[in-house]
Amino acid sequence: MADRSQPTPTPPKPSLPPGMVLGPDGKPCKICTAFRNWRPTAPGSTTPRKKSTAEMMAALASGTGFRSPEPNTTLPAHCPPDVEALGRATWTFLHATAAYYPTRPTTHQRANMLNLIHALPVLYPCTHCAKDFGDRMKECPPDVSSRERLSRWFCERHNEVNEKLGKELFDCAKVDERWKDGPLD
Ligand code: FAD
Repeated sequence: MADRSQPTPTPPKPSLPPGMVLGPDGKPCKICTAFRNWRPTAPGSTTPRKKSTAEMMAALASGTGFRSPEPNTTLPAHCPPDVEALGRATWTFLHATAAYYPTRPTTHQRANMLNLIHALPVLYPCTHCAKDFGDRMKECPPDVSSRERLSRWFCERHNEVNEKLGKELFDCAKVDERWKDGPLD
């Protein structure tokens, strides 16, 4: 008779390539991972070879055959967004929307802006980004009382992500120059 007193051993987890991020289902998450970390190798080889988009997607989906970061690997324009393309596009939308938000918003405008912001931790497809953003929102609730305050609020949240990623912090005094007025000639 089988010995049921022994716990079933857990199979060892495969080691993840640098930069690869798993989704909530435990599988490699395309939209949470920078494209430069997706690049696959030929089976049994350590040398990267150029892959088609389909091969890269298949390698990503299977969780096998990834390479370490390649500094010059950029996401081809026809590929689905990675965490960086999604982030750039989202920040562009959020900062630009804040830049054109009214100085004295109505109750209706404030409520809609709050809805938009509160939707991010629920719907943003990069799940670890969404969770961290939601955690930060609990610490620092959104200030939708004016254009200036909202722009600063987004700038500060963006700087928190910049800091987490080891990037340079942005000078929040320059949000209007960057997202509304453009540089002075
Ligand atoms: P981005 O950081 O995308 O910035 C775009 C442009 O905005 C910059 O060129 C600059 O001109 C301007 N800018 C930079 N900082 C500020 C600021 N503070 N205020 C105003 N303007 C600014 N990526 C991860 O890897 N992990 C995460 O956890 C993560 N969380 C994210 C959460 C959210 C809500 C969003 C929208 C994105 C997140 N990202 C995350 C993506 C990440 O922030 C970047 O968008 C991505 O790494 C691409 O960076 P980038 O250097 O091209 O410029």
